[in-house]
Amino acid sequence: MDNFIFNNPTKLIFGQGQLQHLPKELETYGKKVLLVYGGGSIKRNGLYDEIMKLLKDDDFEVVDMPGVEPNPRLSTAKRGADLCKEHNIDVIIAAGGGSVIDCTKLIASAAKYDGDPWDFVTGKATPKEALPFGTVLTITATSSEMNAGSVITNEETQEKYGWGGPLNYPKFSILDPKYTLTVPLDQTVNGIVDTMSHIFEQYFHTADNALFQDEICEAALRSVMKTGEQLVKDPENTELRESMMFAGVWGLNGFLSMGTRGDWGTHNIEHAVSAVYDIPHAGGLAILFPHWMKHTFPKNPQRFVQLAVNVFGVDSADKTNEEIAMEGIDRLSAYWKGIGAPVTLADYDIDDSKLELIAEKAAVNGPVGGFAKLSKDEVLTLLKASL
Ligand code: NAP
Ligand code: FE
Repeated sequence: MDNFIFNNPTKLIFGQGQLQHLPKELETYGKKVLLVYGGGSIKRNGLYDEIMKLLKDDDFEVVDMPGVEPNPRLSTAKRGADLCKEHNIDVIIAAGGGSVIDCTKLIASAAKYDGDPWDFVTGKATPKEALPFGTVLTITATSSEMNAGSVITNEETQEKYGWGGPLNYPKFSILDPKYTLTVPLDQTVNGIVDTMSHIFEQYFHTADNALFQDEICEAALRSVMKTGEQLVKDPENTELRESMMFAGVWGLNGFLSMGTRGDWGTHNIEHAVSAVYDIPHAGGLAILFPHWMKHTFPKNPQRFVQLAVNVFGVDSADKTNEEIAMEGIDRLSAYWKGIGAPVTLADYDIDDSKLELIAEKAAVNGPVGGFAKLSKDEVLTLLKASL
């Protein structure tokens, strides 16, 4: 194992009816609240009214900030930071999914900064302070509700990068599966794919002696697949939504990768694809991951054999390592296709005209991924295979 220090300070408030804790959690930080949300799903499913009622009853002053787009943009975060400065905001609520939460993370730091917030995303500057924020999660996928990651798109330069730091952890996150019942089928599928992809990224690590971590990842993948398959057939089942919500937080809150460092190359490549084409994050992952696996198999055949046998139930008798691994990867593709995930870049009308540019963006900081370390040319090969 690698040495590590683990500290995840986010308070998790999980289960039905837990929204009632919101006023008490906010009170610690003050009475002036910025309510950040997306394109209106929280108005349609009643969450907005419930939040407003709780806050009004307790005399909070609320400034509204709608309009965070999927793949949140730098200009939107700047708008939020300006609102915080203008209204002297004490604390922020992010009510939504990964996009709203990621955007809030940048708003929180940018509200205490006079320079360009893009500096934080590129690592040119590090936030020294940030406004406190909590989340009310409405869609399961990213675990942004319990991690320090934030992915932001600079729409002017067509760049999309992840950034993070200790100030990016939500102070608290309220997870009531009831609010995810209205998530449409395609976004539900995206959540399943993203959660599985986060586990894959951590499973493909380079540490020795990480049997415990490996087996937790394998069990988590089996469980997500089982729940996911049932959920797409029965999307209004609150218990299945609850199981998926719990899996989604665990997917990327750091517990699965204590003592290991994962790959994350497929996420980087996908960020480059959605920076150029603005496609859903998980849609890109569903297309790219099987190709990444096939391309990367020679780097550590045993890892792929273990995945195929322990997660995808491949019978290894009388087969070569390569046959076992490829059968596992084919079963993953079949599973994702079966629940309705996209299969090729053509599903998003993406042709070969900008693949070179995407590969360049993905490899801008050198080799892509900690486990696979792909060159720009390898990324291009993988993208071409995904057409
Ligand atoms: P999202 O982009 O936050 O939301 C996707 C869509 O789902 C939006 O149109 C949203 O509509 C809708 N939606 C959300 N909750 C809903 C509900 N309860 N009912 C109906 N519709 C609902 O999705 P996400 O997958 O959670 O986040 C994706 C972003 O997170 C990407 O930018 C990705 O790169 C990033 N990401 C971050 C991390 C991290 O660790 N921080 C990890 C992976 C990915 P409204 O806008 O109307 O609410
Ligand atoms: Fe992701």
